[in-house]
Amino acid sequence: MHQQHNFNFRNWAGNQSSVAKNYFAPASEEELVNIIRQYQKNRLVGTGHSWSSLCVTDATLISTVNYNQVLHLDKDNLQVTIQSGVKLWQLNAYLDQHGLALKNLGSISEQSVVGAICTGTHGSGKDYQILGSQVVSFSIIKADGNKQVIHSENDQVLFNQALINLGALGIVSEMTLQVVPAFQLHEQIFIEDFETALQKLEEWRNTTDHLKFWWFPHTDKMIVYLHNRTQQPRNDSRFRQWLMEEVISVYAYRFFVWIGTLNRNWRKTINRMLLANFIRPIDRIEKSYKVFNVPRPPIHREAEWAFDVALAADVLRAYKQKIDNSSHRINFLQEIRFSKADNFALSPSFSRDTVWIGCYNIDNFGWVELMHDFEEIGKHYNGRPHWGKEFTVSKTYLQGQYADWSKFVALKSQFDPMGKFENKMIAELFS
Ligand SMILES: Cc1cc2nc3c(=O)[nH]c(=O)nc-3n(C[C@H](O)[C@H](O)[C@H](O)COP(=O)(O)OP(=O)(O)OC[C@H]3O[C@@H](n4cnc5c(N)ncnc54)[C@H](O)[C@@H]3O)c2cc1C
Repeated sequence: MHQQHNFNFRNWAGNQSSVAKNYFAPASEEELVNIIRQYQKNRLVGTGHSWSSLCVTDATLISTVNYNQVLHLDKDNLQVTIQSGVKLWQLNAYLDQHGLALKNLGSISEQSVVGAICTGTHGSGKDYQILGSQVVSFSIIKADGNKQVIHSENDQVLFNQALINLGALGIVSEMTLQVVPAFQLHEQIFIEDFETALQKLEEWRNTTDHLKFWWFPHTDKMIVYLHNRTQQPRNDSRFRQWLMEEVISVYAYRFFVWIGTLNRNWRKTINRMLLANFIRPIDRIEKSYKVFNVPRPPIHREAEWAFDVALAADVLRAYKQKIDNSSHRINFLQEIRFSKADNFALSPSFSRDTVWIGCYNIDNFGWVELMHDFEEIGKHYNGRPHWGKEFTVSKTYLQGQYADWSKFVALKSQFDPMGKFENKMIAELFS
């Protein structure tokens, strides 16, 4: 097993780091169990794509990078079982080879499947719950080293409490997911006035499988993404994909983002110029996972909150007004997505159809002030922050937002009575 002392952990965005006294990258369940039996303070890391301090520890850090095999495909029931280090991109490719797919995805597939699910990662779509809703069962190695399998139907109450667990209950070892026959997405992208988009939001949300908006701050326009499921054949050209998704959206975009770091006051003009010159209407059909995922974004900061969807237009207007009347200069898109209500205790979509609103910016300068302004709006509208993104709101506020908070805390004391899976963030939230 790969192991190291004084391991330097750094997350994807580089805003979190720590030196873990011990680092392990086990390749088998037996090795996972041995570590848990031996060490008293442990945190798990998938691919470190969370902005929050979930993976920060000075004790033992366990990476699932080498625990990454697809274990079984049940073609009759359309279920796949994986080890917890399997990445979303790996699973997408594996399923594609078998004519199958995940039914919904977020914007990228670099994360580990389990890491994404543990934080309540979501895609978009009125009738689609967060990614965890695709889980049929998972096994968890608890603090005493014993393994427990939790099934979505047979152990429904426990499953709903334990699925979104932030790595606070133990090590998720294996997971079985429900998959669907492979499908294509018909993607239509166009620009609409900000206010018109808000007025049409409910109509689009009801008539589109996966609706999403991108708003470039300092503009009055919204980029609208309509994604509808289809079995029609793909019609997108490889050349267009290479040009738009590899060259323009990655290198040209990064260049303009970099220009905006030279003088922040140029960002208004840059955003307007990007919108006018680089965003062209698109109408294409492509494999689902290629459309769900966006081109590689540059390193940036993110906060994202989940609100009752009935408040979508109000929150967006309040956020735009705040930006318009402030000295914040943002050169990154703000993302607006949707998900269906669920019953998972710590899911930000718990019990309400949700609009997710992202506050993103490229640099550290002014980030804390921007995030605080966003959080003031978030709290005013009773939002819930994404666990994998940055937030500073108090435990008292969070407790008030989750009806089943105390049930999760009780479960944590049962699974991990001595706080073996705690770091500072987990201890502050749930101890
Ligand atoms: C560029 C980018 C795009 C993103 N896009 C989206 C998006 O579209 N939608 C969205 O909702 N989020 C999105 N996110 C957030 C991201 O999906 C989450 O932060 C996710 O948790 C990251 O997965 P990971 O494998 O990196 O997990 P990590 O950040 O490594 O870990 C996340 C949590 O899972 C725990 N964990 C990991 N593996 C295990 C295990 N085996 N057992 C128990 N606990 C475990 C960790 O301890 C930690 O608490 C994005 C992040 C980035 C950087």
